[in-house]
Amino acid sequence: MRAMILEAPHQPLRLVQLPVPKPNPEQVLIRVHACAVCRTDLHIVDGELTHPKLPLILGHQIVGTIEAMGERVDKFSVSQRVGVPWLGYTCGDRCRYCLSDRENLCDYAEFTGYNLDGGFAEYTVADYRFCFPLDPSFPDLQAAPLLCGGLIGYRAYRMTGDAEKLGFYGFGSSAHILIQLARYQGRQVFAFTRSGDLEGQEFARQLGATWAGDSDVLPPEPLDAAIIFASVGKLVPAALRAVSKGGVVVCAGIHMSDIPSFPYHILWEERVLRSVANLTRRDGEEFLTLAPKVPIRTEVNAFPLTQANEALDALRSGKIEGSAVLVVD
Ligand SMILES: [Zn+2]
Ligand SMILES: [Zn+2]
Repeated sequence: MRAMILEAPHQPLRLVQLPVPKPNPEQVLIRVHACAVCRTDLHIVDGELTHPKLPLILGHQIVGTIEAMGERVDKFSVSQRVGVPWLGYTCGDRCRYCLSDRENLCDYAEFTGYNLDGGFAEYTVADYRFCFPLDPSFPDLQAAPLLCGGLIGYRAYRMTGDAEKLGFYGFGSSAHILIQLARYQGRQVFAFTRSGDLEGQEFARQLGATWAGDSDVLPPEPLDAAIIFASVGKLVPAALRAVSKGGVVVCAGIHMSDIPSFPYHILWEERVLRSVANLTRRDGEEFLTLAPKVPIRTEVNAFPLTQANEALDALRSGKIEGSAVLVVD
């Protein structure tokens, strides 16, 4: 099979021929149709996440069909379409996080496209217990960004409680998905982009943002909560200043540049600052049940598998409106 592999950080991915992997008893073999690109992939390539398996096939938003199943796989069927997310394995019963319904924090977790080979390839294997069935209303390309931008974005969104006025810092793949859910649930969204990104701000307004502007300005009214999707630490004090008393600021990314020091009074009055890490399977099931009801429509920029490096560069330079997706044919 063809695969784009990362051999070492700071190097472009390389197109290679590899044997098609064989599923173990708990795995399914999947023929990949599409795999969306995530900012986390950039953090791995750029050496900001420091423990990838190497060489590595990146990609944790995989849509494909099952071609073979291990002997212990007791759901799904051959030729069924499934999605594979970031959470690729948890211990289930050996760590206190799994035992307390917080498998996203499992001490022994393994992640697709990081500790496990992912979907920048023609085939992949995945533990069936972590794969999701996908609603047929979503074509392959449109389904792929739901699997991380959607799922982990949804976990961050859930942490904002019943906020009515919600700020999104960074308007990329996750934000363009979650704004649709927020609007469906009657919430107002205030979108913050890189300074001067007028196209991004217009994109947010088209998707129903009440207001869109630069991330270094205050919104026209105080917010109940904010989610920081961008990996920029200085957005933390900016978001704390934008939320009112009791407001919640959620950092949704896996990596962030250092957060500058800030005066205590912007955290005072019971403002809450927190991160989200990974996802639980329940997050995935809830979100994938909600998505067709909205219905969420993802804006997709397609690249052939062999142009994975171009897709990563486009994402890095902020040229992607919506989500970048690799098409594997
Ligand atoms: Zn565990
Ligand atoms: Zn991701």
